[in-house]
Amino acid sequence: MQMNREFSCPRCGRPAKELHQSLCEKCYAETLTLIEHPRTIKINVCPACTAYRTGKKWINPEKETDLNKIIINIAEKNIKIHEDAEDPKVTLKIENLGNTTCTVQIHADATVYNNQITYNDELVLRIQRETCNICSRLAGGYYEAIIQLRGENHIPTDEEIEEYTEKIDKLIEKIHEKGDSTAFITKTIKRKRGTDFYIGSNHAARQITQKITAEDGTTLTRSPKLVGRKDGKEIYRTTYALRIPELKKGDIIKEQKNTLQIIKTGKTVTTINLRDGTKKTISKRDMENIKKVAAVKDAKTAIVVSSEKNTLQILDPETHKTHTIKKPPFVSNNEKPQKIYKLRKFRHLSI
Ligand SMILES: [Zn+2]
Ligand SMILES: [Zn+2]
Repeated sequence: MQMNREFSCPRCGRPAKELHQSLCEKCYAETLTLIEHPRTIKINVCPACTAYRTGKKWINPEKETDLNKIIINIAEKNIKIHEDAEDPKVTLKIENLGNTTCTVQIHADATVYNNQITYNDELVLRIQRETCNICSRLAGGYYEAIIQLRGENHIPTDEEIEEYTEKIDKLIEKIHEKGDSTAFITKTIKRKRGTDFYIGSNHAARQITQKITAEDGTTLTRSPKLVGRKDGKEIYRTTYALRIPELKKGDIIKEQKNTLQIIKTGKTVTTINLRDGTKKTISKRDMENIKKVAAVKDAKTAIVVSSEKNTLQILDPETHKTHTIKKPPFVSNNEKPQKIYKLRKFRHLSI
């Protein structure tokens, strides 16, 4: 067997040491298709949110709303560089972005068996506007859950509604950013006893109400309702009743003869005795018989005129008279302004 046998290339007739698909290296490089790509791609773009699809599935380009960049992305995904290309450099340029078509110029350089080769061609995108499934759900008032914001033994105040609306908005935005595309509020309806939020995603509604309950000690009841069947699966719509507690962090309550301030709410309520500074945890059930004597918003700021070992002289912020009160153990010797609750008979400094 002859080891150094030379071939001759059938295309150019020159001798070759090796043949690649029956051609010499140069002919192989010259005839190879550097970039493989379809001539045209059909894409559907949602005019409302820039989600797009090339097949059946809608793709939501996270945070990318520039159609030019989306098109380049799609083009990139649809081109395939030949595996024998070394050090390929590909540039894609949008030309003529119209309403229904867009041309992407493809230019590529690479080395194939030491031969520099260049590729130039174009890719045409046929663009169709179509409202995506998420936007059509939103437009159609789609919802999987309702969060009913109510008050525990009271009708929520405007401030409470505002505070919790903001909380719900922020949480839903976060969940949406994490990829739950139906995490949106379809509509809000003001009711006599609170506000109803219609939520596109049941998963989001559950997360939001659980988080608020853990943080604020709201009570939460969940009632799923069978609303239909789809593809053999039962479809439920869940109502989450979220009740804002009457007592909030900072409120002052009376328990027997003690005046306590709530310092933490949750499953139980933690309080501090404003006279002796002792802490006490009270269960929700025991809270039912407790009297609220001042709300957190009633607190005023008072100037501490002087501070003795056991007493404080404070300036009443309303009458501007000086009063001497017993110094609570949680107040240090600093003569700083303090939050004060002025109750009927005596004044309490809070923490
Ligand atoms: Zn050849
Ligand atoms: Zn859309």
